Amino acid sequence: MMSGSGIIQRKDLYNIWEQTHFDKILPYKEFIFDMLIHLDILSEQRRYDNDTGSRLKVENFFVPCMLILRNETSFMTCVCTPEKAVRLAFSFKGTIIPPALPNRLISACLSMWTVKTYEGKQLLFSGFIGLSFDMAHDIVVCVEGNKILLYIVHKTSNGLIVPDIATGIKETMFTTLERISEFYQSAVHASPNSQKIPFHVEYSCSRLECFITEEAASTTDEWICDKHKLLHTKEKWNIWNQNQKKIQCEENCQGLSEDALDQKPTDIELQRFVSPCDVTTVHDLAIHLGMTFQEWEDLRDNYDRIEIVKCRILVNWRDRYKGKFRDIAKALSNMNCNLHMLCRVKRVRIERCQSREEYMDFIPTDEILDELAQVIGVVSFQLGIELGLSITSLDIIQHDNGRDLVAQCKAILFKWRKDQIVRPTIEVLHNALVNVGKGSQCLEEIIKSKGVKKYIPEEEKDEVEKKGKEKTFLKKMNPFKKKK
Ligand SMILES: [Zn+2]
Ligand SMILES: [Zn+2]
Repeated sequence: MMSGSGIIQRKDLYNIWEQTHFDKILPYKEFIFDMLIHLDILSEQRRYDNDTGSRLKVENFFVPCMLILRNETSFMTCVCTPEKAVRLAFSFKGTIIPPALPNRLISACLSMWTVKTYEGKQLLFSGFIGLSFDMAHDIVVCVEGNKILLYIVHKTSNGLIVPDIATGIKETMFTTLERISEFYQSAVHASPNSQKIPFHVEYSCSRLECFITEEAASTTDEWICDKHKLLHTKEKWNIWNQNQKKIQCEENCQGLSEDALDQKPTDIELQRFVSPCDVTTVHDLAIHLGMTFQEWEDLRDNYDRIEIVKCRILVNWRDRYKGKFRDIAKALSNMNCNLHMLCRVKRVRIERCQSREEYMDFIPTDEILDELAQVIGVVSFQLGIELGLSITSLDIIQHDNGRDLVAQCKAILFKWRKDQIVRPTIEVLHNALVNVGKGSQCLEEIIKSKGVKKYIPEEEKDEVEKKGKEKTFLKKMNPFKKKK
């Protein structure tokens, strides 16, 4: 049964250890169980309490090494295609990777992101995992020969992948894999310090087959791949190596790709494009795109805030004319505007914090959301879009709550947490606040004053006290501290 799903419960394992030839283990069963988690051989399937935001008692544990089903879904042929995905490889020396490595990597991924469901199946198979990063981006990690492959998949086109997100995921994977292989080597060899990192990064060609090493890619301007004879210029690799503070395009930015121009912009993309524009530009653009002066005026009458009008007029245009990025590009060039204004749809602000607090993985409590709703103010609509709510649901919220801004904010935050399109963590909320220009200070202050409650169910309390000593011991000998 377990070999199908790779899922086991704590009591199942204890039952196995009741057998006579495990009698040496049994007295230490809790310690050994915790050790298996610590070594990423078992991985917690996390669940959270919606009211308190704290972790619920974990029922299920994932045992990646027991997962033998192979991925037979059509995800790789239908969704993760060369048109929608980019790929890199962590390439190991030798012909095969010790299976412990990818298994631990998959465990680590499970603790960071939500497993994606596709055609009713969880994308969790032997040496293969699919994860949801946000509304637009998915992640695939799989093993092939001596490579661990990392795909970033966009909902519509790889030309619209946000480079900051791709770079962030690559760095997280790299660090995790480095930590895992350091530990693995220290377990195999006596002195871990003498070892180098046993893998290097390789980028894939645009057909997702050929490879060039990161080192070679950084020193050559042009690369023609072996199998397809396709020319790749060095700008192609920028997506994996974003400089965080950049607000403008790179010197040789090519703008949106042909494929990206053919896509319909999403609400979030329209908002990212439109929010730095002044009112006159947006008004003129809307007229160029075929909207009427009257429609603009009507929106102005209906919405108090101009920020909503700016976004709303383009959303209405897209929905009525099946508008594409290409139409906006054409209108901008007729207006003699800089076409690189469109590159903003691929730019997000990501604040990298040196020491990541553990509460970033928590789901915000009622109390935190209530407090936050008081201080969000006029950016509630933008925040709603950034959190992935649909324009229709934002309209309903606005209609239901009249001009009560706090009530609107509250409704938006609670709906986001309830919908759970991606795991609604404090980190997601934090990033959204940063991206609408509100900043995360307000959230941090609320957390500081209210605290993040740790909810412990009654029956677990005794256990926790008893285990206090073991926990300290585990911490002391921690061979690789989990990245926080
Ligand atoms: Zn190729
Ligand atoms: Zn540009």
